[in-house]
Amino acid sequence: MAEFRVPTTVRVAGQPFAVRIVPSGEALSRGVSGDTIGHMDSGHQVISLYGPDVLSTACAVDTLLHEVLHAIIAVHAIVLEDDEELVSRLSPALLDTLRANPDLVAALLSDWEVHEHGPED
Ligand SMILES: [Zn+2]
Repeated sequence: MAEFRVPTTVRVAGQPFAVRIVPSGEALSRGVSGDTIGHMDSGHQVISLYGPDVLSTACAVDTLLHEVLHAIIAVHAIVLEDDEELVSRLSPALLDTLRANPDLVAALLSDWEVHEHGPED
């Protein structure tokens, strides 16, 4: 398994979201609840991971994907009655599916236009 490296920026529909790592002590001193491990601020386009120093890698990865899904919903103005419910259920399921299917991930990341027209076009 590849080492977990937190991206500094995540682009959603071309819009950059800065990813901030907030150590647990700093998060607590800012009044962030000890239960809160991530936050997405659509106005400032910032994704915060709180206390990644005390989270397992699996939890930090899930939190990052969770907040990215919130960003996708916000940027694309997807109106949902309860986006927390959807994101909370979809994030671990999507992560599990992507991890179980590296060929799928490779296909998703490939440049379909190049393959469609061949390298000599
Ligand atoms: Zn959430």
